[in-house]
Amino acid sequence: MNVAQILGGKGHDVVSVQPHRTLAEAIRTLGEKRIGAVVVMGADGGLLGILSERDIIRALADAGPTALDNPVSRAMTAKVVTCRSETSIDELMEIMTSGRFRHVPVVESGRVKGIVSIGDIVKHRVAEIEAESRAMRDYIAMA
Ligand code: AMP
Repeated sequence: MNVAQILGGKGHDVVSVQPHRTLAEAIRTLGEKRIGAVVVMGADGGLLGILSERDIIRALADAGPTALDNPVSRAMTAKVVTCRSETSIDELMEIMTSGRFRHVPVVESGRVKGIVSIGDIVKHRVAEIEAESRAMRDYIAMA
């Protein structure tokens, strides 16, 4: 199982914001799209960072409500850990566990081709376990 299979199921849509946008604008995007993180991209589509709900909470805790007017670039994580389409799900789980984050952009030839969240992995694993258990039950029923 690899990242390409997850993207094949969920699609390659990536919600992004530009670094000069305010945190308030980024929050609106997270709310509208019902997601927990956005990738931060320059006008040329280059990956500049990632902004998750945790970064927003931290910015609010540090500066109070005025943080909402600050640019995304001030709160984002600039050193983004990425994966590739061929990265295995086991490897991706290890990357998320050791890095303590729940989102990993998929980058190919310098372009962001998708994003995988821990929710996507859980959904995928549950489907896999259900299929295995169904196959096992069918096998037992036939015996
Ligand atoms: P998350 O668990 O994804 O909400 O993110 C927790 C923290 O890790 C936040 O500070 C994020 O900006 C950061 N983060 C999220 N995803 C990544 C990633 N792929 N690479 C580096 N940092 C990340």
